[in-house]
Amino acid sequence: MKIKVSFQPLQRSIAVLLCFLLSPLSAPTFADDNNSSFDEPVGKITGLVSIATRNRTNSNIRDVVRAKDNLSTNTSGRMRIELHDGSILSVGSESELKIVKHNPATGETIGTVPRLGRAETRQAIEAAERAFPAWRKKTAKERAAIMRHWFDLMMANQEDLAKLMTTEQGKPLTESKGEVAYAASFLEWFGEEAKRIYGDTIPSHQADKRIVVTKEPIGVVACITPWNFPLAMITRKAGPAIAAGCTVVLKPASQTPFSALALAELAERAGVPNGVFNVITGAASEIGGELTSNPIVRKLSFTGSTETGKLLMAQCASTVKKLSLELGGNAPFIVFDDADLDAAVEGAITSKYRNTGQTCVCANRLLVQDAVYDAFATKLADAVKKLKPANGLEPGATQGPLIDDRAVEKVESHISDATSKGATVLVGGKRHALGGRFFEPTVLTNVTPAMAIAREETFGPVAPLFHFKSEADAIALANDTEFGLASYFYGRDIGRIWRVAEALEYGIVGINTGLISTEVAPFGGVKESGIGREGSKYGIEEFLEIKYLCIGGI
Ligand code: ADP
Repeated sequence: MKIKVSFQPLQRSIAVLLCFLLSPLSAPTFADDNNSSFDEPVGKITGLVSIATRNRTNSNIRDVVRAKDNLSTNTSGRMRIELHDGSILSVGSESELKIVKHNPATGETIGTVPRLGRAETRQAIEAAERAFPAWRKKTAKERAAIMRHWFDLMMANQEDLAKLMTTEQGKPLTESKGEVAYAASFLEWFGEEAKRIYGDTIPSHQADKRIVVTKEPIGVVACITPWNFPLAMITRKAGPAIAAGCTVVLKPASQTPFSALALAELAERAGVPNGVFNVITGAASEIGGELTSNPIVRKLSFTGSTETGKLLMAQCASTVKKLSLELGGNAPFIVFDDADLDAAVEGAITSKYRNTGQTCVCANRLLVQDAVYDAFATKLADAVKKLKPANGLEPGATQGPLIDDRAVEKVESHISDATSKGATVLVGGKRHALGGRFFEPTVLTNVTPAMAIAREETFGPVAPLFHFKSEADAIALANDTEFGLASYFYGRDIGRIWRVAEALEYGIVGINTGLISTEVAPFGGVKESGIGREGSKYGIEEFLEIKYLCIGGI
């Protein structure tokens, strides 16, 4: 298989190109300035995806990433990007080897990425293995400097990365901008944190011995990420891994490959050496099969569905890989009768409707105490009516489309199941007049545990309101699930705040807030929501091994 990059004549002054190599053994080949066309295979290894630039100092990600009008495919199925200077960049794979990516808001084709498989994944893993010794040898300060540069480049290109994200994922531009900053924060935080990977000395059990504990990077790390946070889910894994001295092979979601590729471009511009951060797009089960069975890979960090997580966990068993899994949730959002209802509504809007309800920490069940049920429902309905579904690039949009048709069907099925069993639609309840994958932000009342929405993650803009009587009822209802990622509650009584916080079987508890994500805090779940934590001082530990040195004959 050959993956080619071609430029049309005349237009190469900025000449940004997508090429497919990160192996330390193979350098990119660039056309010289006098050539008017460039149609050679780029690099010797075709399976590894990265973006390289001919003129790193002057070019800007803006040249690569532009709003949807400038992203299109030509007849050969290659992605065509118009650069700021009017030049045309054509990238992509041979037509039979591509994944076609559509804009979820418009259905238009954005472009294609290579459909790579097992062999190319193995090449990527081997490239990461070759890069590992030199990268781990660098001092933490040296690695931190590169990561800081990577962070700076993300922030300098925040607007363009956000436009790309909205185009391929659908979320409103303001949310995309927020995510770019959130994603970048993991590079900054973990670059610094690498300087604080401390070991231990332990008082010895024998007079002539000394006990020392050191920490080492685990080695080659595989990351598999979802589409709902196309950048942040990557940097939350690759950030600590790379900071710790590991090298990474990343498989981004097929729905959002371009953000991952843009991130790889910025990594390269920041000075992340070849082979340290490899991005591979293509067939999930083939790539996943190689990542989980190849003995060179020492760790898998996955975010996605519980079903896929269980499969990958089983696949990792044969080579006993270390695992971090961030899986599904079924978050309760409890409103006690002493809650500040306006604050609770604000928190519910943030937690439930952010990213059109497509986050694993979205409130999935709103449990409201009887005395405030009607008042809360009315206030929430009023706030939901003010939400604005629209193409995420439109000013004022607050609700983008759902990611695909399957997602729309799931939302519909949860609503029809609930209403058939006695729930009432207070607001919304159907596909939006905009058509396509837009759905009306919805509030359901009189929802009960007998309905599917009580047990399954809806992953859409539907707030189901359950009744409860007492604190004990709320806790029992909240914990009645196999999931245990995020939970939320609103109330003012200090004794109850402690009791409920301690009783909730969840990795994360938001108390009087609907927004809990930050790079400085540990994110992760219990029960079937996963294993391990991301972010914070705990997050870097996931990519380290402990080594115990026992020194005798002292
Ligand atoms: P979602 O429902 O959010 O798409 P998935 O668990 O299906 O959740 O997908 C999360 C990530 O896992 C994506 O990158 C997807 O391509 C990948 N994935 C899905 N199935 C497999 C598999 N069998 N092996 C490896 N990766 C997979």
